[in-house]
Amino acid sequence: MKLTKTFNPVRDTYLPYGRQWIDEEDIEAVVSVLKGDYLTTGPAINEFERKVAEYVGAKYAVTFANGTAALHGACFAAGIGTGDEVITTPMTFAASANCILYQDGIPVFVDINESTYNIDVNKIENKITKRTKAIIPIDFTGQPADLKKILDIAKKYNLIVIEDAAHALGATYKNEKIGSISDMTMFSFHPVKHITSGEGGIIVTNNEDYYERLLQFRSHGITRDVDKLKENHGPWYYEMQFLGYNYRMTDIQAVLGSSQLQKLDMFIEKRKKIVAKYNEAFAGIPQIIIPFQNIEGESSWHLYIIRLNLNKLSVGRKEIFEALQKHNIGVNVHYIPVHLQPYYQQLGYVKGSLPYAERLYEEIISLPLFPGMTEQDVKDVIVAVQRTMEIYAK
Ligand SMILES: *Cc1c(COP(=O)(O)O)cnc(C)c1O
Repeated sequence: MKLTKTFNPVRDTYLPYGRQWIDEEDIEAVVSVLKGDYLTTGPAINEFERKVAEYVGAKYAVTFANGTAALHGACFAAGIGTGDEVITTPMTFAASANCILYQDGIPVFVDINESTYNIDVNKIENKITKRTKAIIPIDFTGQPADLKKILDIAKKYNLIVIEDAAHALGATYKNEKIGSISDMTMFSFHPVKHITSGEGGIIVTNNEDYYERLLQFRSHGITRDVDKLKENHGPWYYEMQFLGYNYRMTDIQAVLGSSQLQKLDMFIEKRKKIVAKYNEAFAGIPQIIIPFQNIEGESSWHLYIIRLNLNKLSVGRKEIFEALQKHNIGVNVHYIPVHLQPYYQQLGYVKGSLPYAERLYEEIISLPLFPGMTEQDVKDVIVAVQRTMEIYAK
């Protein structure tokens, strides 16, 4: 294909890489809470928690103001404290490691598996020390991590598994829903995730002790539970027993979450159909490595990431990224490895220490993927990618 002087974009309007789906039902649900008695800590919270727990097959659920606060709560409930080491991967959003720092713990990064992009389970045991307390695996893009091996290692060394499933609501691992497997599992309800509450997060667990600690942590460390009080001055009495936070979700958010949850399976179906079209279109392009398909589980497809075969391209990832942007395709990069962030570099993490994650970072581009994409949107993405690869093929 010849380069034309005037660039002709595949589409005139910008297509974002992700977008929430809000319908009249969602709007009516939110309005009903606004007209009611409780804007926060009311019945919509309990209902959303019950529904999420039921959907994923966990006993308990505790909502939080956002997924990051939920991860912080999980680290607290797991008893992570000063100097405790927690194993996670660098190929994630900063929050998966930041939550360890909030508790004065030490993130210990383990490199990724080259094909799944999830934590390399064969490299975990090397990093375990006497100070290791927990593992935070990420179900990257919605593909479940190798949870059986992770849980086996955790059992052997008496570690707690906090699964960051921000990408994986509705995914399954060995026919079990994500959320029913690890000691604690976090989901996020940020608008780019599978369902949204505006901002929001949740921890699901089967452990009653974690559940109670999460509830108390979410509300300043305060309890009114008479069985837990050290004293009792009267019916007004409550105790703050440890330093917690105000990490509560509002009822306005929770009712939106419940309304969205009814549509989750439909959202995932729509995502899967788009993924199938992308895979079909890109599988034969030598410049592209399409995403891994987990045989032990089913992804809920939060992200669709193409990996570039740079040997077969005359330009780098940056040029490809910019070319797709010029076509008005909302591309993104997930993620800049956490240990390369300036803050983590200051803490002493070193570039070169996690070569697979660092190399992957140089080669990836996330394409638009959200349930409201039209057939034309999907075609536009495919055509833009095909044209770009043709132009820059080596
Ligand atoms: C979105 C996300 C979070 C944080 O969730 P928020 O609700 O935005 O705080 C944590 N980990 C991963 C992998 C995420 O994608």
